[in-house]
Order: sequence, then C-alpha cells, then structure tokens
Amino acid sequence: MRVTTRIKKSRQILRMVRPFDLSTSDLIYPIFIREDGKTFEIPSMNGQRYYSLDDCVEVCGKVVELGIPAVMVFGVLKEKDADGSIALRKDAFHPKIFNKLKKEFGDELVLISNVCLCDYTADEFCVYTDKSGKVLNEKTAEVLGKIAVVHAEAGADVIAPAAMCDGQVRHIRAALDREGFDDVAVMTYVKTDSCLFQPYFEAMTLAETPRRTVDSSKFRTDVINEKMFMQKVDLDVSEGADMVIVKPAITNLDHILRVKQKYPTIPIAAYQVSGEYAMIKLLSGYGHVDEQVLLMETLSSIKRSGADMILTYYAIEAAKMLREKK
Ligand SMILES: [Zn+2]
Repeated sequence: MRVTTRIKKSRQILRMVRPFDLSTSDLIYPIFIREDGKTFEIPSMNGQRYYSLDDCVEVCGKVVELGIPAVMVFGVLKEKDADGSIALRKDAFHPKIFNKLKKEFGDELVLISNVCLCDYTADEFCVYTDKSGKVLNEKTAEVLGKIAVVHAEAGADVIAPAAMCDGQVRHIRAALDREGFDDVAVMTYVKTDSCLFQPYFEAMTLAETPRRTVDSSKFRTDVINEKMFMQKVDLDVSEGADMVIVKPAITNLDHILRVKQKYPTIPIAAYQVSGEYAMIKLLSGYGHVDEQVLLMETLSSIKRSGADMILTYYAIEAAKMLREKK
C-alpha cells in the first residue's frame, strides 16, 4: 500500500530526504551604523540596535565567528543635504565604515553596500524627481554610479542599488568598470511596493516623525502585477546585475520562484524586511507562537521558494540556532 508516513518515521529519515538544509552561509546580516556614535535599541525594530563604528566591529566579529558570510551596511548620517552630494565625499561616513571593516576583516566578511539617495538627501526620497514629481532616472542613476565608486574604493565588495530607478545597474556597472572596479559585483534590489518597509524607514530617518508620505509606487512595482516585477528583473539583468534581491520576502515567494526559473544561473537573495521581522517579534511577544519555530518556518519557506541567500535581521539568532542544532 502506498503511504506517505514511512519517510516521516524518524527525525533522521526526515533529515536524510530533505532537498536542502538551511545553513549559516545562506544568511546576510543587515546592520545599522550611526555616525553620531550612539548605540541604542531601534524603537521601530524591537531587539535590533544601532551601532557606533567601534561597536559595529564587535558585532561583525560575532557575525564572522558564527559563519555568516556577509553584512548589508546601512549608515545613518548625522545630517543629510538637499541633493545628497555628501554621498560623494571620500571622507564621509560610509567610506569610513567600509575602510574600517575591510581593514578588520579582509576577505572574511563580504561587505555589501546599500546604495540609495534616501540615505543622503534631506527629503529622504530614493530618487530625484522634477517639479511635477516625474522620476528622473538618468540623473539618479548617474549619481548612484558615483556613490558606488566611492564605496568600492573604500572597500565595499558588492554594490546593492536600492533606488529601483531604471538605468541604475547600467550606470553603476559602467562607473565601476571605468574606475577599475570591474571585480565589484552588483546585487540589484527589485521591490514591490509595501508597507512592510515602514519600520526600516523609521529606523533610517533623521526626522522626528517618519516622512514617507511620498508616493513610492512610481518606482517600486505593484504588488499585484507579476509582469511588472519581472520586467524590472529583466531590465536589471540585461544591464549587468550579477545577483538579484527580492524584497519583501514573504509577499514575494512566487516572485523568487519566477526569477529562479527564468534565471537559473543568477544567484537570488530574499530580504526578510523590517515589517516581517516585526511580525515575528510581535506575534511571539504576545505569546501566540514560538519565535524560533516561526523564524525557522519563514526562513525555510523563503529558501524553498528558490532563494540562495536570505537577508534577515534575525541572522545572528538564526545562526546560533543552526549551530545548536548540529
Ligand atoms: Zn531609498
């Protein structure tokens, strides 16, 4: 008689028949580093902290020790300016971060640079627009290319353009190649418009209250439209993206699979974003579920959908759990 229970009989058989296992080498830890040197818990992301540059070295040491191969670097500046030109200064905060981490960890830790205008511009908008609100793709992408060069020069191994404007990969690739950084990879973000980014915006803003009243649907993709999503992936891959980050993860598992099927040779990362992190924290905080069980369930589902890498604020906890399991 055919039954499905035989291969579920023991934990070891279950392990034996699994098509994959989560591993610490799948994980990437996003880290927030403050220029003002203050270290404290991020109010919108319960359990996550801002780090000073010195404290960040300590945390990255832990990341390396746990076997997590990479960090995504988010620098929180003391001040931003009208057009974000502070991003192009070689003595600015972001190059200092890459310099320091590269000196400390060399090739032991992959440094991924999140490149977007909102980190530097006073209005904290990801792209330049004209007075009517039209997105200025070429102008934005050209500046992103220059920022990428500054970060690569300082030690960033991978550039992750996050502005979602058209032409960003093309400009960044060309700028990196022109300046001799042809060995620096581009890992492009493709995002659906989502309220799950909100805790991150609150973490990154310099304003007392979050400013994200801007209509970001002009440059992110409509969550309901899978063709629009794939169109952006197609464009970024054709422009030379080495890797693709799908973001958020939980609302885009089908997109991850779609990218995997269409581009089997392109490595795919999924970003379990701040709102997904908060959902797990809150649900478990209320005692409705076990935090670790839900975390592993979500990470496994993301991996099963086709992701090769997972960016998660839970990376350190997940790595500890995976280590204990062995
Ligand atoms: Zn942005």
